[in-house]
Amino acid sequence: MPPSHEDASEAEAQLSGVARLGLIGHPIAHSRSPAMQQAAFDALDLPARYEQWDTPDEMALAERVAALRQPAMLGANVTIPWKEAVAPLLDDLDDSARRIAGAVNTIIRAEMEQGVRLTGHNTDAPALDRTLDDLGAWSDARRMLVLGAGGAAQAALGVAHMRGVEPWLVARRIETAWEAMAKLATRLPVPERWRDHVVALDDPGALRAALTESQILINATPVGVGDIEASPLPLDLLAALPSDAAVLDLIYAPPETALVRAARARGLRAEGGLPMLLYQGALAFTLWTGQPAPLDVMRRALAIE
Ligand code: NAP
Repeated sequence: MPPSHEDASEAEAQLSGVARLGLIGHPIAHSRSPAMQQAAFDALDLPARYEQWDTPDEMALAERVAALRQPAMLGANVTIPWKEAVAPLLDDLDDSARRIAGAVNTIIRAEMEQGVRLTGHNTDAPALDRTLDDLGAWSDARRMLVLGAGGAAQAALGVAHMRGVEPWLVARRIETAWEAMAKLATRLPVPERWRDHVVALDDPGALRAALTESQILINATPVGVGDIEASPLPLDLLAALPSDAAVLDLIYAPPETALVRAARARGLRAEGGLPMLLYQGALAFTLWTGQPAPLDVMRRALAIE
């Protein structure tokens, strides 16, 4: 039987001494991670090739993770829709993946005495934490309002818990918000009262009241992706935020969303998703290489400037 494309890539990488990494997800053609990571490896003269590993189904995921055990592999990034499903296929999870975010976005391959170990990490959560820190959002923050109840919202809630900040979770359906809070409680010792810190997006009165109490607002929905006019909430509601509030939109394309634009126009501190994308990639790079990430090179590769 002729060797598969994967076997041939692995054999060629072993012969040439080039380490292999890649992005596991579906779809991934739009992702900026390959360009950002390849630029970092090239800048530090580290012989590595960052590949796109489109992974359409669970069988392909299992095969891809098994292939990560081969000698030339350094690790991987994981994105939608596999950040949770990949966890049981790994040997270990660090605290960022197991407890803070409840999902894996980075895998490290290590050779130990007992054999190859694949460890799952989550660099989204510390990257979100650092982006808020850059904004000066943590000083005096008591409440964080999170729009959306998916994977990124879980990371935001985990970071809020770590920082001792109480959340408001806002979702299209109140049931979805309850489920997200229940999911959080399976991995972190959240206070009972957090279960009631939920608001339905179509309840403007409750939303306005929650905004009034929040020093941090995070958009963890995809509303605004590729659309400079779309906003996850009516923009006039931003007037309810305290004047020292900080707004973080996790969307990075466009770099300045309608939400960020409106927040800045009101004099609020606001940031889009590009710095978080940069930091999560930089943290992954350091986990794989043990070296500080060349942030400027990676930022240029993301065309942030
Ligand atoms: P996800 O797991 O699919 O969750 C998306 C959430 O948004 C769900 O709760 C969904 O609600 C909600 N939603 C979708 N459409 C909505 C609408 N029209 N109005 C209100 N809520 C809506 O996605 P994710 O992984 O959390 O990612 C969310 C966003 O963050 C994406 O745009 C992603 O690219 C971005 N992100 C950025 C970074 C970064 O580094 N900057 C990192 C992670 C994620 P339902 O449950 O009701 O469908």
